Amino acid sequence: LAKEKGKNTFCFYSLEMDNILQQRLEFESDLRKAIEEEQFILYYQPIVDLKKIQLCGAEGLIRWIHPQKGIIPPMSFIPIAEQTGLITQIGKWVVTKVISDLKNIREVVNYNFYISFNTSLREFSSANFIDDVLYTIETSNIDPAYLGIEITESVAMADPQNTIKSLKTFKEKGMKVLLDDFGTGYSSLNYLKELPIDVVKIDRSFIANMNKDIKEQKIAKSIIDLSHILELKVVAEGIEDSQQAEILKSFECDFGQGYLFGKPLPKDQFMELAKRF
Ligand code: C2E
Ligand code: MG
Ligand code: MG
Ligand code: MG
Repeated sequence: LAKEKGKNTFCFYSLEMDNILQQRLEFESDLRKAIEEEQFILYYQPIVDLKKIQLCGAEGLIRWIHPQKGIIPPMSFIPIAEQTGLITQIGKWVVTKVISDLKNIREVVNYNFYISFNTSLREFSSANFIDDVLYTIETSNIDPAYLGIEITESVAMADPQNTIKSLKTFKEKGMKVLLDDFGTGYSSLNYLKELPIDVVKIDRSFIANMNKDIKEQKIAKSIIDLSHILELKVVAEGIEDSQQAEILKSFECDFGQGYLFGKPLPKDQFMELAKRF
């Protein structure tokens, strides 16, 4: 009986594994098809000047519109795109799309409004990444000053010397460089000093508990002070209420992003929001 049971169990697990593998392969082939058919959309979330309460930029955030499953958030497919290498193609789509949307959006904003886009490790460190981005910009007639590139602290730290070189190239072209999710990785302060960046984005996790937790406030304040010492601007991510915004303003945080100012929206809806700002 035991042997019998064992055998069944083995079959059960093997079937289960088959299923997982099957689903994974299906997901990958769906993702390849999504790239061919451009089943993606970029949402835009406002970035606001905390002192003037003025719209100064937006972050482009990708979503996959799956024909059967509906909207899939980036965290559910970017990691698989990274593992399979499909991220480089997705990244190219993102840059092209950001630039074409930027042309429309800039018609309703009349100051130094910029859009930043996200990059992940395999994309950022791929051989043609810089050339591809620069080529797309150069052939689009857009001033690179209206474009920002976001890299996370962990991407930056994966190969600091190479990151410094790449970011310098983007900065020399006039692009903004933003260090995303700051505080969640483990960059040494020494590298923060060396990295050619313009803006530090304080990770949402520090902002989330700020109202209740005085230590979180102090951490946020230290990141702001440190960034200012290094002559960098600061964006606080994930601001959801006015109390957080007030505290951050009193800490002289430059910019804010979060549901308080607006959720990520499709381009047309974002443009409506931008006009009303
Ligand atoms: P991220 O770059 O740190 O983007 C901020 C995330 O926080 C977004 O999630 C945004 O919707 C969310 N968020 C903004 N404000 C608030 C708030 O007040 N409260 C809460 N709870 N959340 C807020 P989203 O759009 O799901 O993106 C998740 C991550 O996926 C991004 O984190 C980024 O790392 C990655 N990602 C998004 N778009 C792209 C892309 O085009 N390429 C790559 N490589 N990664 C992307
Ligand atoms: Mg980001
Ligand atoms: Mg972030
Ligand atoms: Mg984040």
